Amino acid sequence: MAEVVKATDAVDVPDDLNWFRGDSVIQYDDMAPGKLTGQVNPYQFTTAMARLAEGKGARIVTGAIVEEIDYSSSDEPAVNAVRYRDKSTGISTMLAADIVILAAGPWTPTLFRSAPINALRAHSVTIKPSRPLSAYCLFTEISVPDSTQSSAHSATGKLVCPEIYSRPNNEVYIAGEGDMSVPLPSSVDEVEIDRNACRLVENAVMRISDELRDGVVTGRRACYLPTVDLPSGNPLIGPTDINGLILAAGHGCWGIHNAPATGKVISEIVFQGEAKSADISALDPRIVI
Ligand SMILES: Cc1cc2nc3c(=O)[nH]c(=O)nc-3n(C[C@H](O)[C@H](O)[C@H](O)COP(=O)(O)OP(=O)(O)OC[C@H]3O[C@@H](n4cnc5c(N)ncnc54)[C@H](O)[C@@H]3O)c2cc1C
Repeated sequence: MAEVVKATDAVDVPDDLNWFRGDSVIQYDDMAPGKLTGQVNPYQFTTAMARLAEGKGARIVTGAIVEEIDYSSSDEPAVNAVRYRDKSTGISTMLAADIVILAAGPWTPTLFRSAPINALRAHSVTIKPSRPLSAYCLFTEISVPDSTQSSAHSATGKLVCPEIYSRPNNEVYIAGEGDMSVPLPSSVDEVEIDRNACRLVENAVMRISDELRDGVVTGRRACYLPTVDLPSGNPLIGPTDINGLILAAGHGCWGIHNAPATGKVISEIVFQGEAKSADISALDPRIVI
C-alpha cells in the first residue's frame, strides 16, 4: 500500500481533494488556508512578464549566449559592455552597457567567477490526468517498494517525496528530488534527463492516485537549481564591487516564488540607486564576494 505521510497530526482531507485512494493517506496537514495560496506556471509566467517588459520598451534578445562581460581598464573596475553570440548564426555582438544585471542562475559563475553559486539537478514530470482534478499543491512522502531507488528509507519501504501541483489546464506537474550525479553542462540545451529519476516519481504518484495512473505522461524534464555555497543559503541580490555589475542569482528552490520581488528591488537599485521596498542587506553580494 502506498502512503501519503505528513509530518504533523492527522486532520481530515478536504472533500474536493478526491484524487487519492482514501486508504493511502496516513496524515494530511494544510500548509495554508484555502484561497490564500496560488500557483503560477513558470513558462507562462516568465513569457508573460517578458511580453509586458517589451510592451514598455525593453528589447529582448533570445537564442543568444553571453560570452563575456567586458570591463573598463580604468583603476576602478566598471562594466563596459556585454559580448553575446547568436546561437544560430554564430555572429558575436558587443553591446555597450553601463549596468549589467547578471541573472544566469547556476551558470552565473561562468560569467562572474567569484560568485559562490552551485548547481543541483532536479527532475520533473507532467501528466494529463484521466479527469480534471481540483487545484492543490501537495508536498508528499510516498512509500514505495525497496527495489525502487530513493534517498530515504522507512519501515515499509523507501520514501519518495514528490511535490504534486495540479494545474488549471488539466495537467499535473510533479517535481522530484535533487541529485548531484551529473555536473552542470555548459548550456541549458545540454541538460541530461535521467529517465529512471522521472520513473521514480511517476511510479510513486501512480501508486496513490488512479487519476494519475490512468493519465498520460506528457513531459519528462530536468533542470538545475542555483544554490548558494554559504551557510545562509540566501540568494545574492544587489550591486557588486564592480561598478554597474548587479547580481540577481542563487534562488535555490524558490526562484519562481521570489522572482517578482527580486525584479522589483533590482529595478529600484537601477532607477533609484537602492532597494526601497525591502531591506535586502542580508542578500548583499559584497558581504561574501
Ligand atoms: C524540478 C524543479 C522544481 C522547482 N519548483 C519550484 C517551485 O515550486 N517554486 C519556486 O519558487 N521555485 C522552484 N524551482 C526553482 C526555480 O526554478 C529556480 O529557483 C529558478 O528557475 C531560478 O531562476 P534564475 O532565473 O535565477 O535561473 P534559471 O531559471 O536557471 O535561468 C537562468 C537562465 O540564464 C540562461 N543563461 C545562463 N548562462 C547564460 C549565458 N552565458 N548567456 C545567456 N543566457 C544564459 C540560462 O539559459 C537560463 O535560461 C524549481 C526548480 C526545479 C528544477
